[in-house]
Amino acid sequence: MCGIIGYAGKQQAKNILLEGLSRLEYRGYDSAGVCVNYHDEINFAKAEGKLVNLADKLRKTELKGNTGIGHTRWATHGAPDETNSHPHFSNDRKFAVVHNGIIENYNSIKEFLSEKGFSFISQTDTEVLPMLLQYNYTGDVLD
Ligand code: GLU
Repeated sequence: MCGIIGYAGKQQAKNILLEGLSRLEYRGYDSAGVCVNYHDEINFAKAEGKLVNLADKLRKTELKGNTGIGHTRWATHGAPDETNSHPHFSNDRKFAVVHNGIIENYNSIKEFLSEKGFSFISQTDTEVLPMLLQYNYTGDVLD
């Protein structure tokens, strides 16, 4: 079980995401992360441990942008460290994903995508999702 927050609006997303995560921290507390979209770039911050560690990092990071997502993790696949914390990204960095739950068949998806040239940096099941989005993306996310 994890905590998930998303924001799209007129204000800067960073502090809204952090406030949302603080209300959800009881749902996952081994690591946390946020990412914010700014002019076609996705910038992020992640930290192992309690949310206060992420908050410390965010105080020193500008992380500009009006759209973002955040996550407090309760690890099921992979150690509770910074690399495995969410969000996870596609290789082309066009997709960022936070996820609650378990992807039972993630190993076969990972093998399939690795054969297609995708490279993974985490031990999570979640990381296959942004890669699958990249692999299948035809210009319309709903498609
Ligand atoms: N299975 C995912 C992971 O281990 C999500 C865990 C969660 O729901 O926080 O990263």
